[in-house]
Amino acid sequence: MPATKTPPSAKTPVHPGKTGVDLLHNPSLNKGTAFTNEERKKLGLLGLLPPRVSTMDQQVLRLINNVRRQTSDLQKYVEMIALLDRNETLFYRAVQDYIDELMPIIYTPTVGAACQMYAHIFRRTRGLFITKYEKGSIKQALRNWPHKDVRVIVVTDGERILGLGDLGCNGMGIPVGKLSLYTACAGIHPEQTLPIMLDVGTNNEKLLADPLYLGMAEKRITGKEYDALIQEFVAAVQEVFPKALLQFEDFANHNAFRLLEKYRDEICTFNDDIQGTASVTLAGLFSTTRLTKTALKDMKILFHGAGEAAIGIADLIVGAMVAEGLSKKEAMGRCWFVDSKALVESTRKDLQDHKKPYAHKHAPVASLAEAVKVLKPTALIGVSGMAKQFTQEIIEDMSKFNKQPVIFALSNPTSKAECSAEEAYTWSDGRALFASGSPFPPFEYKGKTYVSGQGNNAYIFPGVGLGVVACASKRVTDEMFYEAARTLGKLVTQGDLDTGCLFPPLTKIREVSAHIAAAVMEVAYKRDLAAAPKPKDLLAHAKSRQYQPVYKKYA
Ligand code: NAD
Repeated sequence: MPATKTPPSAKTPVHPGKTGVDLLHNPSLNKGTAFTNEERKKLGLLGLLPPRVSTMDQQVLRLINNVRRQTSDLQKYVEMIALLDRNETLFYRAVQDYIDELMPIIYTPTVGAACQMYAHIFRRTRGLFITKYEKGSIKQALRNWPHKDVRVIVVTDGERILGLGDLGCNGMGIPVGKLSLYTACAGIHPEQTLPIMLDVGTNNEKLLADPLYLGMAEKRITGKEYDALIQEFVAAVQEVFPKALLQFEDFANHNAFRLLEKYRDEICTFNDDIQGTASVTLAGLFSTTRLTKTALKDMKILFHGAGEAAIGIADLIVGAMVAEGLSKKEAMGRCWFVDSKALVESTRKDLQDHKKPYAHKHAPVASLAEAVKVLKPTALIGVSGMAKQFTQEIIEDMSKFNKQPVIFALSNPTSKAECSAEEAYTWSDGRALFASGSPFPPFEYKGKTYVSGQGNNAYIFPGVGLGVVACASKRVTDEMFYEAARTLGKLVTQGDLDTGCLFPPLTKIREVSAHIAAAVMEVAYKRDLAAAPKPKDLLAHAKSRQYQPVYKKYA
């Protein structure tokens, strides 16, 4: 039979199955209007795109203008996720170029609202959803994922999303957002990331009654049934993606501590809410000691909240104080907690296990304000998820006892912050060393502009992930988070500190992540945890592993 005459683009497809409209609908290969005229001919794209070829810079400009035209942060989020679904390379390039502006859109605080509205703004599926009905076939669900070389998994069961509580299946926005930061901040290849929602139901009545809710409209499973599902899931991950780091995210604290304890010495895993938060906060405290010219071991820290974040931070601080020469007992004695009921102290009979080691001998104290007066701490760290708890009275008291009171209002999203940057600086007469969980804009007070830092876990977990992946570490250890904190602290310049910022600018995040990855690898090699041969230059190796959001050239 004579061959049918076809145009060259269709006759000799350069990427079989990845030409024409299929190519434009493939987010990892699509370049949109940036396909050159030559590529358009070769790849069956003739007529499928507006005629004028854009550069990537022009595409980024078009995108950022579009984002800025949106009238709410949630709409900006929707615009960004639509881009991620359409053209992944451009998404990561734009996030990299406009990290200060776009990180609060793709992650905290906007991701909180995006999760609350997940079922209502849903357009296209992303990630894997596993429920109790997949019991017995979780491996099969994992095998349905199109990419086989998965290296980082973020999994949530949606029970404690940021400070917003049980959002059930709506919590999927968190693993999606977090993994996009692994790529944007550290350069983990997007195809090596996998977001997972373990939908075990929800106890959120509002969601259960919402006809548009996309998760299992059933109460949460608990106890043995829950543990068996987790166990099957963990074993399935080990079998299907043996090289993957498994990050547990936004589990309620009654499960988070347990699961971390159960799996940390068995598989390559960590909990960012506990360990990542601890590391970034410790880095912030190291920065404050450079300003106060004291040592960490001289600090007395009062936590508002005694959950995952608070206990995780305290445990790492204790390790750091011990490294500075204190005994463990002395170091623990420097960390105090107020939970939803009162000061955590030894006469209390209602304490959960994770609080007990910090229940020091002390008379009962009913409130945070009273605890501040009695304990006279050098630092106040808010991680209760309760807004506006750092009142004027409390910050004024902190400023009486301390020349430079350390005030970290870490609860997320912004609506849950214990106080704003403006309040911290005004009530302390400009003396507070302030950091927050969600970003605050620069604030001018008495002629000085304060650029407060965000104690953003994104300074830590992407770099830790890159380090673990780059040396194929079998475990993630607390020592790695301690070294990550030290490394981050060292990267804060005097110029950063002079503006009141306790962290490096986010614009340096890729460099920061590479340094943290190198520090993490150093620990892995020292502790004989790395499966990959040791490279000569760890920093160069980390950098060489970073995915770059640049377009492929089609020959
Ligand atoms: P969690 O649920 O484990 O702990 C919350 C703790 O707050 C519990 O101990 C609870 O008893 C206590 N609490 C509740 N109401 C209180 C009240 N009225 N007074 C005092 N204590 C009260 O949650 P978590 O993982 O520890 O997170 C807490 C907050 O910290 C969240 O808002 C989260 O977004 C934020 N966080 C911030 C960062 C960051 O900025 N880098 C990282 C992790 C968590």
